[in-house]
Amino acid sequence: MNLVPDDTGTFVKRPRYRREELEAKCENVMGSFLHKCYGNGDRIATEDDLTTLLESLGALLDTDADLSSLDSAENGWTQGLTDWVDWITGRPDPRPRVYIRRGLREQRFYRYLMTLAHETSHVLCEMPAWNLAGNLIGKESRSLRCRGAQSFDWKDWRERQAGYCGLALLMRIRMLELRLGPRPEKSQRPSSDALQGQRLIHRVSEEFVVSFAAARCRLESIGYLTSTSQQLNLRLGVPAIAMH
Ligand SMILES: [Zn+2]
Repeated sequence: MNLVPDDTGTFVKRPRYRREELEAKCENVMGSFLHKCYGNGDRIATEDDLTTLLESLGALLDTDADLSSLDSAENGWTQGLTDWVDWITGRPDPRPRVYIRRGLREQRFYRYLMTLAHETSHVLCEMPAWNLAGNLIGKESRSLRCRGAQSFDWKDWRERQAGYCGLALLMRIRMLELRLGPRPEKSQRPSSDALQGQRLIHRVSEEFVVSFAAARCRLESIGYLTSTSQQLNLRLGVPAIAMH
């Protein structure tokens, strides 16, 4: 990771990760967290794992947030560097706040899990920018609103990183390789639309508790399947070419 000028006007500098660095970050953070909890990191993260991980990163999570004033597609909201003050001690409480839309869990569980992973990724990836003294340009920029896993704003580096890491936290390469075997050579990869590809997507969707679209996007982006639709990747906030 290196720090580069932020063209969104939010920070003076923002973190720039290579794809391998994001994969390693997700593997290390989730793998070591699960190992600490269960004595074995080779597990698929559950809802409880995601919420506990997010809180262990120092964030305050509200999964019953009233986001009715936002666009109906906006299911998550992450605030870094908040202005909050602890009402008991009167001291500043700058912990990041993560809000998930009320009812999402009951109505659309896959979307809920993906939103949770996506917002966790905002906290994970943007901490270096939040923690750099004097790095914030505008106070109003502290509040980052996003569409969770359905982000269309892929031109924003924050959304690109969170979109990629959200999938990587739920479907870590190590776990995929343990279950599916090593990734095939490029010439041996089935197409997502072929029967073999569809079966693989279905299997990953079931075993990793993610939507068919999310499983497909992940399998294509890390080389299990041949991508046939860039549009799908963009819809999930994971541009196929430049994602850092
Ligand atoms: Zn986002």
